Amino acid sequence: MRKKIVVGNWKMNNTVAESVELATEIAEKVGSGIIGCEVGIAPTFLALNEVGKVIEWSDILLTAQDCHYENDGAFTGEVSASMLAAAGCDFVILGHSERRQYFGDTSAIVNRKVKKALEEGLRVILCVGETLQERESGVTESVITGQVVEGLDGVSDISNLVIAYEPVWAIGTGKTATSAQADEVHASIRATVAGIYGAKAAEHLRIQYGGSVKPSNAVELFSMPNIDGGLIGGASLNVDDFMAIVNAAC
Ligand code: PEP
Repeated sequence: MRKKIVVGNWKMNNTVAESVELATEIAEKVGSGIIGCEVGIAPTFLALNEVGKVIEWSDILLTAQDCHYENDGAFTGEVSASMLAAAGCDFVILGHSERRQYFGDTSAIVNRKVKKALEEGLRVILCVGETLQERESGVTESVITGQVVEGLDGVSDISNLVIAYEPVWAIGTGKTATSAQADEVHASIRATVAGIYGAKAAEHLRIQYGGSVKPSNAVELFSMPNIDGGLIGGASLNVDDFMAIVNAAC
């Protein structure tokens, strides 16, 4: 049985002080010794150190929102996977649609980041998702398959990998994929992964859903056979909403 995983992606929100306050409240509620699921939070790079300190005693997984594919060098403004690992990060989110859309992260770049992050001992959440235009043109499956295959090119072991299916049209829009729509894509991702890594690895792989997950739809989404938790944007900035979603998964 796969352990569900819920991660809050705080995006470019919260000062360091605000991040510490939110993380402290979440840590108090999540606590330590949880067995039913995994919970992570992804503050900005700037807040990782301080947030890491206040959640250290808890089971919360410190997560970064992105990384570069080189360890160091002349890449102004970037942060490397080795720096994140040294800062105590457990996970890094890669290939988020906002990175693909606004910062030029192609699948080839995402693939380099995935390989580097895994090499540095981080666990990876690889995000994939189709745009509204792609869904309406009936190419959802081929787009997602392409992103999975390219994102994992040359990756031999996926035991430290989670995939997040996030339809771009559902992110921050209030529109959620129906549980059936999401589960269909999740099943197809699992089939793609089975084709590359075999049935056993695919069965173990956790596939999160992301896109306007709220306390009101989390239970239904998480009850689907192929949905193994959520990557949560807006709702993760509110302790009560985030905890309601965590409780739906745990
Ligand atoms: C996200 O950005 O990963 C996300 C799912 O955002 P939201 O929950 O706000 O749609």
